[in-house]
Amino acid sequence: MINTNIAIIGAGFAGIAAGYAAKEKNLQATIFEATDDWGGLCGNFSVDGFRFDKAVHLSFNEPELVQKLFLNRPHYAHSSESRNYADGYWVRHPVQNNLRELPVEERIRVIESFINRENIPDAGAENYWHWLTIQFGEYFAEKYPARYTRKYWGTDAENLNCNWCGGRLHQASLEEVLVGAFPDATEPDNVYYTKVMNYPITGGYKNFVAEIAVSLDIRCGYMVTAIDTAEKILIFANGESCRYEKLISTMPLPHLAKMITDDEEVLAAADQLQTTSMALISVGYKKKFDFPTNWFYVYDEDIPFARVHSPSRKSPDNAPQNCSSLQFEIYYSREFPLKFTDDELIFKTIDGMERIGVAKFSDIDILDCRHVEFANVIFYNGMEENRAIVLREVAEHGIISCGRFGEWDYLWSDQSFMSGYNSLQEVT
Ligand SMILES: Cc1cc2nc3c(=O)[nH]c(=O)nc-3n(C[C@H](O)[C@H](O)[C@H](O)COP(=O)(O)OP(=O)(O)OC[C@H]3O[C@@H](n4cnc5c(N)ncnc54)[C@H](O)[C@@H]3O)c2cc1C
Repeated sequence: MINTNIAIIGAGFAGIAAGYAAKEKNLQATIFEATDDWGGLCGNFSVDGFRFDKAVHLSFNEPELVQKLFLNRPHYAHSSESRNYADGYWVRHPVQNNLRELPVEERIRVIESFINRENIPDAGAENYWHWLTIQFGEYFAEKYPARYTRKYWGTDAENLNCNWCGGRLHQASLEEVLVGAFPDATEPDNVYYTKVMNYPITGGYKNFVAEIAVSLDIRCGYMVTAIDTAEKILIFANGESCRYEKLISTMPLPHLAKMITDDEEVLAAADQLQTTSMALISVGYKKKFDFPTNWFYVYDEDIPFARVHSPSRKSPDNAPQNCSSLQFEIYYSREFPLKFTDDELIFKTIDGMERIGVAKFSDIDILDCRHVEFANVIFYNGMEENRAIVLREVAEHGIISCGRFGEWDYLWSDQSFMSGYNSLQEVT
């Protein structure tokens, strides 16, 4: 049996940060990771010389500690410009500020929608759909964000609350909308919530924490299958076990709940905690495309992917010389399950790729399809109450739960890192 002072479940950015904080305090900590590599959602995989992160992954580095650690690594500072594709048109992001790229009839309908919007403070919104109509009016709300919501959040906008959207979605003034609609007016400023997106020069996104990770005791291939919180023992799928003094977990709350309790109320609450999952279709091209932005959004619902990013544009180190790459993100959920086999998804993705005009089938060198079970926490109305029930139970069992799926929140990687780092304060 392994003995450790602090056991940390999961070697994503949160688990690594918890291990780093323990090391700073000279505490013995062991990180147990289910898969064969560290990095979690920020990890990557390679296919014939093409490296792919698991979805877009760029860093905005808000907290001071994250700035110090991440930006210490050689990195690119990219612009946060991006684009949207909808119904045959490419429009600079966000659509509401850049209507000039749409046909005149569409611009008029959007402006009418905006002028006729419900004029009440957004704090009064009943749900995300209501919030969208307050911001943009019904026509724009349905045509752009609500359509995208079905593709990205795997549910209808009516079913979501607004606790995640403030600050992430630009709330335009009428003047901004009008300036953006006239081609002869000055081009609007980039209003994305961050201007600079950082990315390591080599090694993919996870390289931001590589130096830290290699200094820690990380055991890969250790999937926790049972936890005896009374005896303080972890059981692993590989047959081994570990006795711990303190336990930090970054595993998804619904999985953790099942391992520690048979309380029906808690298990029912845990079952209501849902995320989107994603299919990642990763494509390497034989030639070097100059994609104009690092990522873009696709609104058409008969095209399966919601967002596309270019690993080779983020860093040429992600592709062989004179080649390039894209990764297509397709989301699904319990409510909107995936309707296609992997082969059908690949076929539909290539069809969509040709339709939006970014590349042709004959340009493709390699293709890969894989799935990520836990992507984005879905902010269903009432989600917070269920989360509170589960977190209370977890705390009663002496477990410190942190990270994106341990806090059960829409955390970026820097926030997940800080969540793991701060979790150590609760241990000591
Ligand atoms: C589509 C998408 C795009 C994103 N883009 C960005 C971006 O551009 N910028 C940004 O900053 N953030 C981005 N994020 C967010 C970022 O990925 C997360 O904040 C971060 O990766 C979460 O880290 P974590 O350690 O909390 O969780 P994870 O990365 O999920 O790590 C948890 C780890 O626990 C392991 N584990 C689970 N169960 C067990 C078990 N039973 N036993 C042992 N190990 C277990 C898992 O294998 C995993 O390695 C994005 C997320 C998604 C889904």
